[in-house]
Amino acid sequence: MSLNRREVLAATSVMAALSVGTTANAERRNRKGVRTLIKNGFLYTADANNTVIPDCWVLIEDDKIHSLGSAKDKKPKYDHVINARGKMILPGFVNPHWHESFVEGPDRAAPDDSDLERMPFSLGGDIEALGSYFGVIADVGEKFRPEEAYAIARWSLWTQLRSGTTAIGDIGSLNSTDAMAQAAIDLGMRIRVSRWGSDIMIPNGADKYKIIADTDKQTRDWDDLMKKWNNHASGLVGGMPSILACFGSSDAQLIGLRDVAKQYNSPYAAHLAPLKNEAAALWPIFGRSAIGRFDHLGMLTNRLLAVHTAYATPEEYQRIVETKVNICHSPANYGLLGEATVSETGMIGRLIMEGHPVSCSTDGNISYTGGMPEAMRYTHLGHNEAQNDNTACPPTTALATGTRNGALALGWADKIGSIEPGKQADIVLIDIDDWRYRLITHPLSVFLTAGGSKDVDTVIIAGKTLIKNGKSTTMSESKMLRDYTIAVETARTRIFGA
Ligand SMILES: [Zn+2]
Repeated sequence: MSLNRREVLAATSVMAALSVGTTANAERRNRKGVRTLIKNGFLYTADANNTVIPDCWVLIEDDKIHSLGSAKDKKPKYDHVINARGKMILPGFVNPHWHESFVEGPDRAAPDDSDLERMPFSLGGDIEALGSYFGVIADVGEKFRPEEAYAIARWSLWTQLRSGTTAIGDIGSLNSTDAMAQAAIDLGMRIRVSRWGSDIMIPNGADKYKIIADTDKQTRDWDDLMKKWNNHASGLVGGMPSILACFGSSDAQLIGLRDVAKQYNSPYAAHLAPLKNEAAALWPIFGRSAIGRFDHLGMLTNRLLAVHTAYATPEEYQRIVETKVNICHSPANYGLLGEATVSETGMIGRLIMEGHPVSCSTDGNISYTGGMPEAMRYTHLGHNEAQNDNTACPPTTALATGTRNGALALGWADKIGSIEPGKQADIVLIDIDDWRYRLITHPLSVFLTAGGSKDVDTVIIAGKTLIKNGKSTTMSESKMLRDYTIAVETARTRIFGA
């Protein structure tokens, strides 16, 4: 099915609207030294000391944070003011692990659970089912028409922006790299784009793997995307080659991943030791575990973003600590899939307690399943519960997993992840002026336990206010949804036949 005339006109008018937006942005950029003062807010900086200033001001100059202080300090001169009374000021949330997959949406689950089936992530993981599924979806993005890819990417990224995510790490999507990057630029968000490498699958009980994709082509795709998008002139986009997991990659693919990331000095990502059943599938074929394979190839480094890493031996745990691998997890998603990543081994909680850089993320799903506020909630509550210790992951630590540590994992620690002079002005304001907050002195604690994505009031990226009072300042939400709905219909019929 192809787009009809009306849909083509609609797509054209989007492009026209976008180019007008770009001109306006260029004009704004050309004005130097524009100062915006955010005043009267309750600030959590998420800096290395977790500094909190209850009645504070933050001065933004152009795209950067210029200075900050408390109500007692003399306020500086400014051009614009944002009154943050009744609001909490937090750094923009960093979601380093996400998969755009909204072409599978909207969700069609029976509302009474009558069609509920066990997911292959449950009960330690069905390695064969996951390997073949992820192999199949690895190149869906190449089958989209450009306007479909763009509309789906834009709506999905919008749900993240709306819930306070200012920087996102795509580690493999059912979409094209170009569409993801362009949609992020047009929305004003930061992204590291990726292409999902997955060249083998392991049948259950097998001692040989099956090749399911062209390894060299997937390596060339990484190189192409890095050439085009890494350190992009927009200042918003970078690249991050990634693989599904060790059970989806040959040694040749791991070496390709390592070498491309080294060549571009970029982060690289993998779901690493994410499932209890993975080790038993890998040993007969490779003579090593997942973490063992990475270590053998020199891939345990501080540029590795390792996701859901909960199943390590004590020796492998030590290697992760020594090599400063960035560990990322998605605790709000585990209950949806029936994974026991937080509680079964307690490993990620122990890393957090030892001060290792652990980040949290949403993971991906077919539609909106919660944003970074929910990911931070489960980080805070889940580890306290699993460790049987309410000091295991206090609120400021949970905030660091959703901001500072995610920025470190994406290789952007010097630029974003905390509210400090010199960093980019990526800031969210959270409504804390209602009955939930009346009797408390610790608004972050209440936000993480009783708040959520919808409490995000304002989102600022690089000094630009993109969301105000929960509404986009640059885009029509209803139009983005309409374009998405049309794109999903045409793409799904053509690609999946349903
Ligand atoms: Zn994932």
